[in-house]
Amino acid sequence: SVPAAILSALSAAAHGGVLFKGGAALETLAAVQSFAFDKTGTLTTGRPEVTEIVAESGDEAGFLALLAGLEAHSEHPIADAIRRAALARGLAPTPTHGVSAIPAEGLIGQDALGPLWAGNPRLAARMGADIDTPALRALASGAETLVFMGRADRLIGGLTVADLPRATAAAGIAALRRAGIGRIVMLTGDRRPVALHIAAELGLGPDEVQADLLPEGKVRLVAEMAAAGRVAFVGDGVNDAAALARADVGIAMGAAGSEVALQAADVALLSEDMGRLAAAHRLARHTARIIK
Ligand code: ADP
Ligand code: MG
Repeated sequence: SVPAAILSALSAAAHGGVLFKGGAALETLAAVQSFAFDKTGTLTTGRPEVTEIVAESGDEAGFLALLAGLEAHSEHPIADAIRRAALARGLAPTPTHGVSAIPAEGLIGQDALGPLWAGNPRLAARMGADIDTPALRALASGAETLVFMGRADRLIGGLTVADLPRATAAAGIAALRRAGIGRIVMLTGDRRPVALHIAAELGLGPDEVQADLLPEGKVRLVAEMAAAGRVAFVGDGVNDAAALARADVGIAMGAAGSEVALQAADVALLSEDMGRLAAAHRLARHTARIIK
């Protein structure tokens, strides 16, 4: 039977918006020595905004309408930002079909003229497209997320997307540090300049950031951390499911996160407040000491 102290801790945590799937998850969290966080939608709001749009041909509206047509088939926070940008400009998304996701890179699909792709610089490179064109080169100079679109090796355009740190993320991370968590890292599929920029605002140093990761890269780094002691992974996306499952404690952002992430996790964080996560960790430790 589950000790009364654990039952009461589970109920107190649930009251604060932290749902443990069982007493074992609470006990494991008490023993956790390191935390790995996904960036987009976990440490950031996950409600990014399109900030700059450049088309090779100069037809920004045509580019955005076509990209929004592709992104209509995606659940990624970036896709939502692109659809909103098109809507705000009164643009109807161009009809597309056969769209599928390429995890941590972007999308491929078709419009009436043929195959199309949209995604990060790595995907553009794999398609043989040069993103260092006179029109588009300036996009990459900042610390924002990049999305390009093209047909095979022909670039059509690119845009930048900016996301903000979650208001409570810096305090949540600081509280975990005060609680003696030795290693805290950000793992992201986004490019390094963006990751470093967000990390700096959260009090995470360059050596606490791993960028340009594929989903399996997140899993590999969680496994490496697990070799040094119990590790918790906090994430929100479909792409985070494997890392959530690999961690000793998988913690999914419940309110805005994906269903797949919730299923793979041991804990659901229903509150937007990262401070609740640190509080749940303190509660777990306190409870573990009581029942020893
Ligand atoms: P994170 O680890 O920060 O949550 P992802 O692994 O989901 O990010 O994505 C990594 C990168 O792949 C994004 O920064 C973006 O450049 C690109 N990407 C992913 N999905 C899409 C999409 N639907 N449209 C355009 N780009 C995408
Ligand atoms: Mg994410």
